[in-house]
Amino acid sequence: CGIVGYIGTQTAVDILLGGLERLEYRGYDSAGIATILEGELHCTRAKGKLYNLREKLEREVNPARIGIGHTRWATHGKPEEHNAHPHRDSQQRVAVVQNGIIENYQELREELKSKGHEFVSETDTEVIPHLIADILAQDEDLDDADRFLKAVQTAITHLDGAFAIAVLCVDYPDELIVARQQAPLTLGFGQGEFFCASDVTALVPHTHTVLSLENGEIARLTPLGVEIYNFEGKRLKKTPRTLDWSL
Ligand code: GLU
Repeated sequence: CGIVGYIGTQTAVDILLGGLERLEYRGYDSAGIATILEGELHCTRAKGKLYNLREKLEREVNPARIGIGHTRWATHGKPEEHNAHPHRDSQQRVAVVQNGIIENYQELREELKSKGHEFVSETDTEVIPHLIADILAQDEDLDDADRFLKAVQTAITHLDGAFAIAVLCVDYPDELIVARQQAPLTLGFGQGEFFCASDVTALVPHTHTVLSLENGEIARLTPLGVEIYNFEGKRLKKTPRTLDWSL
């Protein structure tokens, strides 16, 4: 179970696969990545070894510059492709990878189902993209520059449990939102490119400037930089550190 995310100028698929390989030691039963390309969400997942995912991805050309990836250690739902992350909402506009467990997913799932959301997996994670999509649909202030960030922040207030998440929304192709509550998540800072990963091991080939999120923190990564907030929405001033070692 590991997550990675990238936004910048390079081919996201390559960076994500490389990152997932470096997180392999954390163990996994399936893997997947999602990217945004030409206004569409592209999601590829495969059961078993990363090689299976790599093989699927090699069949297509995907020059996307933003994406998220996951290696799964199943806790809720069998290790099958339909349970592999990233998970999406019914309209395929929001994609989420998660490390951890959402304790109250069953009640959230019932509530969202009654509002017309269709679930396609048995995971606890799938409630998150549906919840974010539901919140976005209710928010009509399309001019609000923080609309996506706020939707993720609101969704988090409904989640009980331990999680590190990375979220994409097709309507916000220049934003990668990540959050941490009782599961590790580190950010990496490059020149016009930014990363996130469950472990610095996945970041060191690209940057040695890193910052570990604390519990209760949410961050927005864009090609221009990183902003960090607490779950109440207060902007935090934090300084990355420089790793003085290499792997
Ligand atoms: N609970 C989630 C699932 O079973 C995430 C597991 C993980 O951390 O890999 O899909």
